[in-house]
Amino acid sequence: MKKSRIRPSQLPLQYRLTLWYLLTLGVILLLFAIFLYLQLRANLLKQLDASLQLVATQMLVVDEEGQLAFQDALSLPERAAAEGDFAVYLAGEDGQVWDRAGTAVLTPLFWPPQPDPATYFSGDDNWRVLSQPIRAGDTAGWLQVIGDMDPVNDVLDSLLTLMFVGGPLVLVLAGIGGFFMAGRALHPIDRMTRTAQTITASDLNQRIAYEGPADEVGRLAQTFDTMLDRLQTAFERERQFTGDAAHELRTPLAALKGRIGVTLSQSRPPQAYVETLQEMEQQVDRLIRLSGDLLFMARLDQGRMARTMERIDVGDFLGAVVDQIRPLAAAKSITLTEDIPAGLTLHGDMDLLIRLFLNLLDNAVKYTPGHGRIAITAQKTETAVAIAISDSGPGIPPEHLPHLFERFYRVEGSRGRGAGPGGAGLGLAIAHEIVRKHDGRLTVHSEVGQGTTFTIHLPVTQI
Ligand code: ADP
Repeated sequence: MKKSRIRPSQLPLQYRLTLWYLLTLGVILLLFAIFLYLQLRANLLKQLDASLQLVATQMLVVDEEGQLAFQDALSLPERAAAEGDFAVYLAGEDGQVWDRAGTAVLTPLFWPPQPDPATYFSGDDNWRVLSQPIRAGDTAGWLQVIGDMDPVNDVLDSLLTLMFVGGPLVLVLAGIGGFFMAGRALHPIDRMTRTAQTITASDLNQRIAYEGPADEVGRLAQTFDTMLDRLQTAFERERQFTGDAAHELRTPLAALKGRIGVTLSQSRPPQAYVETLQEMEQQVDRLIRLSGDLLFMARLDQGRMARTMERIDVGDFLGAVVDQIRPLAAAKSITLTEDIPAGLTLHGDMDLLIRLFLNLLDNAVKYTPGHGRIAITAQKTETAVAIAISDSGPGIPPEHLPHLFERFYRVEGSRGRGAGPGGAGLGLAIAHEIVRKHDGRLTVHSEVGQGTTFTIHLPVTQI
């Protein structure tokens, strides 16, 4: 049977963090234990060696015959009680034992001797041996002081036991602590995940509302909430747009249906049918315009409009656009004037700019009463071309100005939906969006009874 093995990268982050933490701590503990062991061992040996040295310097005397002999006055057992177990040998240069003393269990003479203190092994035991060459008159030999390593080994053994028991215990405790700490640190992320899972397009009200410090996790939570704010605004705008669009489409359709119903309710003279059809044609035109605007707006929003930026001569361009509007103005005996300096150019998308100026000029003609004036002026500022369209129309009350570029926003009042010159309230929203797409600015200045001026600032871009 094939077992499915879990790879470390598949483990939850909390487990992985704990494992990494334990691994690091384990390695540090191990290195520390090795260092401690070696350091302690060296220190204990140094102490033992110092004791051996002391015994060596105090043990030996030269007797009255000029022979080397052990110190009598100092009894070895007493010394041993103070310093530990020792064996002391006096031996000739050939290794023959001349004398011996000591409290240690019998150990042999370690031969050949090494002048520095060295560790020797005999059977299971372990001895520290200091050998000193000695000379008195013409007698030469070796003094060998042997110390038992048991006390040193005992201390080192207890240290090892402590580490073998204490180390894993420390690791287990640290692991439990680390696991909980990792859990605590990851808790907000876990909450974010759960919140994100409950969020749907229909319920964007949920927020993490993280109250902890502004650390990495705090900033992530904050970013997440800000993103949700933006998403919610975008979704609400979208919903509002769809609702308004549906409403705008419904009104003329309902009017059409009503008109058809009334006309069909009884037989009428042919002229009455013609009039009805003419009225219906107007409504259908309105619908076509509206759906065209909606489609255009949606394309602008999605950024699906292919933009072909080109250098445009402002005089030629505005002249052509104004020519399109001239018949409408003439029909209302409106005077159209242009004041555009020659040689002024800008950089933009011709189709979008035509739409922008047609919308503004169309509004100016629509809302300016007969025999009024419309003036188009252009001038170059340091970084932009400013084109102003001023009319001598009724003006817009100041309370409407902040909302003028919102979608479907209309200055109601005498002009009702479906009646009068007003459209669906998309014209200025589209104009505003087109200017924004050109990194420009659209501003409005209006005084009731005096007229309105829309100014378009488009950046001059060098190609
Ligand atoms: P609409 O298609 O209904 O004209 P717009 O977005 O073009 O929609 O205009 C929004 C509102 O701004 C209109 O309802 C109109 O009242 C007002 N408006 C636009 N241009 C002018 C203007 N030149 N003079 C007076 N009012 C204007």
